[in-house]
Amino acid sequence: MLTLPEACAAILARIRPAVAIDTVPLAQARGRFAARLLAAQVDNPAFDNSAMDGYAFAQRDLAAHDGLLPRVGESSCGSRPQTLQAGTAMRIFTGAPLPAGADTVVMQEDVEAEDGRLRFPRDVRLGNQVRRRGEDFRAGDTLYPPGRRLGAYDLALLSAAGIAQVPVWARPRVLVVATGNELVAPGTALEPGQIYESNRLATLLQLEALGAETVDGGTVRDDPGQLRALLAASTDFDFIITSGGASVGDHDLVKQVFAEIGEIGFWKAKIKPGKPVAFGRVGERAHFFALPGNPVSSLVTFKLFVEPALYAWHHGQAPVLELSATAVNSFRRTPGRMEFLRARLWSENGDMRAEALRGQGSHMLGPIRDTNGFIRVAAESAGFNAGERVTVLPLA
Ligand code: AMP
Ligand code: MG
Repeated sequence: MLTLPEACAAILARIRPAVAIDTVPLAQARGRFAARLLAAQVDNPAFDNSAMDGYAFAQRDLAAHDGLLPRVGESSCGSRPQTLQAGTAMRIFTGAPLPAGADTVVMQEDVEAEDGRLRFPRDVRLGNQVRRRGEDFRAGDTLYPPGRRLGAYDLALLSAAGIAQVPVWARPRVLVVATGNELVAPGTALEPGQIYESNRLATLLQLEALGAETVDGGTVRDDPGQLRALLAASTDFDFIITSGGASVGDHDLVKQVFAEIGEIGFWKAKIKPGKPVAFGRVGERAHFFALPGNPVSSLVTFKLFVEPALYAWHHGQAPVLELSATAVNSFRRTPGRMEFLRARLWSENGDMRAEALRGQGSHMLGPIRDTNGFIRVAAESAGFNAGERVTVLPLA
């Protein structure tokens, strides 16, 4: 049985990363992963300009003219100003080009009219309120390495850098299948022994949020023949993700079927919930995850294993955010596996607080309502008391 870091390392070592690239306009690149190093095409700012509405002048003229300069000319946004006449100040607006000959700006609130001239403060430093060309970034600077996932502000940065189209890794194709004789879709009445299926939807939607192209493989019965046929015919997916049947019960067939048609990397992780989880590869292209059927185990193993695997497939690295919080209740347990408790996190007086929610059974979905993160309990820990510091992993 592998520890969490060992299991993650085993996954990363076996990922065959994306090779196909799509080139897409910025507006379609949100959530996609850069496939090449992205470098700025221009300096930003592209030219020296004013940070304020005010007046531009040569700083040495202030001393020479006793802080009084006549106003001559104007520089507005999107235009090219005249050269500043020596011994004068030019009206200028935020973002407008600094005229040749000027090196300093004073905002209009600090300037007074006096006998047809402008009175400036005495102690203005050289370069005041001037945004320098290239002070943000320069043409050729690396903005993103390959593998970086691009969000709205990243795309705004690329737009400012003059990039219109971005090479991104083609989306992974992912098949999601639920297994279990007891599972039915909501909308039909339950027969004795049946339950409503819920993992497949959560998995599909989380994959879509990560930019994957999903195929809903539906629910299959715990029938090795049916499962083998489905999985063996699905090797042109990048990932196959199954739910249920991954443990050692008589009807837990998923692992056996994957072992027959593919190569298992590992099939147990020393975590709670989520111990019966298998990872491996089938054929030349597909990676598989056999996630446990218990809904909470499914959620935790998706976060811990599938998400990092998807980032790695895109040549990237999943973001990890671990914080320290004060527990507001106690939690006792037998040491052994690293444990993830569903928790409510909030901040109070500048400190993060964490409540281990009631109902940690891996079959209990109700507490998901209040869950916005996990408390991570170390393998050797016997739990914590209220007031102790704990490690938390916020969800988005
Ligand atoms: P398994 O991993 O197949 O042994 O299932 C463990 C538990 O999770 C059982 O109580 C199953 O009924 C339940 N379960 C399995 N698959 C799903 C699913 N897709 N949605 C909801 N519950 C499930
Ligand atoms: Mg089952």
